[in-house]
Amino acid sequence: MANSKYEYVKSFEVEDEVMLPNLIVVRIDGCNFRRFSEVHEFEKPNDEIALNLMNSCATAVLEEYPDIVFSYGFNDEYSFVFKKETKFYQRRASKILSLIVSFFTSVYVTKWKDFFPHKELRFPPSFQSRFICCASMEVLQAYLAWRQNDCHVKNQYNTCLWMLIKCGKDEKEAQEILKGTQKQEKNEMLFQQFGINYKNLPNMFRQGSCVLKTEAEDIVKYDDNGTPVRRRRRKVIVVHSENIAARSFWNEHTCLPKELGTFGEGINKIKPEYVRSFQFENKLLPSTWIVVRIDGCHFHRFSEVHEFEKPNDEQALSLMNSCAVAVLEEFQDIVFAYGVSDEYSFVLKKDSQFYQRRASEIVSVIVSFFSSMYVRKWREFFPQRELRYPPYFDGRAVCYPSSEILQDYLAWRQVDCHINNQYNTCFWMLVKSGKSKCEAQDYLKGTQAEKKNELLKQQFGIDYSMLPIMFRQGTSVFWDKEEKIVVANDGGAVGKSAEENFCGTL
Ligand code: ATP
Ligand code: ATP
Ligand code: MG
Ligand code: MG
Repeated sequence: MANSKYEYVKSFEVEDEVMLPNLIVVRIDGCNFRRFSEVHEFEKPNDEIALNLMNSCATAVLEEYPDIVFSYGFNDEYSFVFKKETKFYQRRASKILSLIVSFFTSVYVTKWKDFFPHKELRFPPSFQSRFICCASMEVLQAYLAWRQNDCHVKNQYNTCLWMLIKCGKDEKEAQEILKGTQKQEKNEMLFQQFGINYKNLPNMFRQGSCVLKTEAEDIVKYDDNGTPVRRRRRKVIVVHSENIAARSFWNEHTCLPKELGTFGEGINKIKPEYVRSFQFENKLLPSTWIVVRIDGCHFHRFSEVHEFEKPNDEQALSLMNSCAVAVLEEFQDIVFAYGVSDEYSFVLKKDSQFYQRRASEIVSVIVSFFSSMYVRKWREFFPQRELRYPPYFDGRAVCYPSSEILQDYLAWRQVDCHINNQYNTCFWMLVKSGKSKCEAQDYLKGTQAEKKNELLKQQFGIDYSMLPIMFRQGTSVFWDKEEKIVVANDGGAVGKSAEENFCGTL
């Protein structure tokens, strides 16, 4: 079974490398956090613990990725700024925005119980992310000023709104009172009606939070004379500042001018064309099948640390399948999914208007929701094994113009599953029988499918075709005619079930 017959489908993937000298910023934003914050009874307008959880996740992101040097967040959003000349994932936009949002979500779910020990996570939070390309430091400066201004405007409004609500107004009435009021009027209302001096509210609420890298001197040991030996170490810290787009703030933190460049004089007014460029969005071609493929990042290591059975851990595959079912239930536009190992492909219907077909939103919400589910469901599938660190996935969206090409795409993934699984089955049998990993690799180099089957039969008495079908052929998930979700591992699944269940119908 030569994979090359199908490999042409790869050519539909588009290049999305962000060229130098553009600065890379990724912004994530909670999906439907209005509801999330209500269901989880966040204090209004600002739940300090929820904000601290966001800050803690952002800190984890900076600790995980040395190339991210600065981040700024408030409410349910966070922006991450990469150092000027980062080569992170070859500067590929989709990879970068998806894995950041996936990691962030995974950490959020993992840390939830540390921050809210008495509140159960009622449903999985998810975030969307987008990519902002800053052509110069001036643009970055304008971007940060714009986000912090948004923080200020929203917070001032929400503070008034919630004070009015707490004093007996309903939400509509409160909104009506605030309609068209200026900053100054809001401050006066807070002071006169509620005795609140807005300026005295906590910095974190008014100004948002910055997480950044700094160099600190640590004592690493003491020499023979008892003199401390100091070394400069990078440390991630959380700070609050009135004006993050000011030159003085930037220069105060030496890592920032060093890794990113310097700011000009403060900016007073943000040009509208800047803000438009931040909002720029890539739309996927209309009337094409959109496939979002997600893939576990560093799952080679993840599977070792979590002692997955090799070559196939059935529980781990079932966990992946269960998350895929949840994805289909959540996103009505997804009509079919196919998964193997640490990857899953989700097919959206051809005329889908999900997020107006904006690529980054589509990819990020799916990958984020999947990651959230994976962490949440871990215990269900591995009751005896602790999740040692947050798993995360990357994602991409590719458009296929016809059902034939879409089926070739699915066939490509399934052939890949077959080839990898057959190889891995041989490899792990050899390793389990005493060969080193290097020896097993050498032994299998260049062997054809038939030879591998023979090896399994003769040396280990294994009939490859009798191994569980889920291992050999992957798993399909789709809605059946009665609108129930089907998880299928039956033979030749992909081409057939795809055609029968959705290609023919649209
Ligand atoms: P979308 O999916 O479009 O982002 P959203 O419901 O998340 O919609 P946002 O404009 O992002 O809306 O606003 C975030 C919402 O979450 C606000 O309503 C805000 O009150 C609430 N929220 C987020 N973080 C907190 C917090 N720490 N304390 C209280 N409320 C919060
Ligand atoms: P990348 O970050 O580039 O995706 P990766 O380490 O995730 O790298 P992949 O090529 O995606 O590598 O391969 C997935 C790895 O995860 C394989 O090494 C596979 O053995 C392991 N793995 C995933 N799922 C399972 C499973 N259910 N049972 C055993 N091993 C698994
Ligand atoms: Mg939101
Ligand atoms: Mg992987």
